[in-house]
Amino acid sequence: MALLEVKNLNVRFSTPDGEVAAVNDMSFSMEAGETLGIVGESGSGKSQTVLAMLQLLADNGTASGEVNFRGTELLGLSRNEINQVRGNQIAMIFQDPMTCLNPYLTVERQMREVLELHKDMKRDEARATAIAMLNSVKIPDAERRIDMYPHEFSGGMRQRVMIAMALLCNPQLLIADEPTTALDVTVQAQIIRLMNELREQIDTSIILITHDLGVVAGLCDRVAVMYAGRIVEFGTLDEIFYDPHHPYTRGLLRSIPRLDQAGATELETIPGDPPNLQHLPPGCAFQDRCTQAFDRCLTERPQLRDFAEGRRSACHLEIVA
Ligand code: SF4
Repeated sequence: MALLEVKNLNVRFSTPDGEVAAVNDMSFSMEAGETLGIVGESGSGKSQTVLAMLQLLADNGTASGEVNFRGTELLGLSRNEINQVRGNQIAMIFQDPMTCLNPYLTVERQMREVLELHKDMKRDEARATAIAMLNSVKIPDAERRIDMYPHEFSGGMRQRVMIAMALLCNPQLLIADEPTTALDVTVQAQIIRLMNELREQIDTSIILITHDLGVVAGLCDRVAVMYAGRIVEFGTLDEIFYDPHHPYTRGLLRSIPRLDQAGATELETIPGDPPNLQHLPPGCAFQDRCTQAFDRCLTERPQLRDFAEGRRSACHLEIVA
């Protein structure tokens, strides 16, 4: 059985200006131990996908479809039941650690409370376990620093504390939403290296949400590329990097520095902006930015189709090629 199977997930937001279709017909599955990257520009629906899975949408949002996690349908769970899944079996880390960490409590108190609540540990055992976890995310001098407040840590160290908090209950799935975006490049690389080491040590599956294909390259087995609320390409990391099919994926790849391609000098950007989700054009949502658009793209929305084993793309070029 797959660890996670998402089928036809749709997310809608009601706003004073009408309904926003943030995620449309999202389907993918993950095996245990796998790391899946969900990549796309801001507003592409990648964060709303995982927030919907965990029933964390804003009040004006609704989700429909199926989200099966180890045999349990998550969208149908009561508040108490989904709270048990969150934190215990699925943990989430965010771009800003302060969304998870309480600024008024020491790190020790916050980590200890998680272990006392979810693992029924006594105070001394919880403190020792928390220190061991801080050591495993390479917080120097963890025995002393565990008694510090979140603001006393640097940005990168705070991110490590948040990862340690998320991993305290040995979740089967860790969801990381732009975990390195707010960090400078050197610290980014350290956090990616740390997550890579941790996934091998603790055997946790990871969903990594990012706008940065460079971050995906360091960590993921398979990649879903999202645009305007839909998956437009799906494949293994190598397939996406070395044989991209969708024009949007190719555009994203041209916009990141590549050390593996001789002669590549100038980085390109994808012209234009993502479309307004309330006023999507008929046909392909990428048509205004696509240099290969033709008549059919203006009137008919391309479906996500298999074009090789494990490979999917939503582009009319796949069909007429
Ligand atoms: Fe470009 Fe047409 Fe393919 Fe859309 S369907 S990505 S507009 S070629």
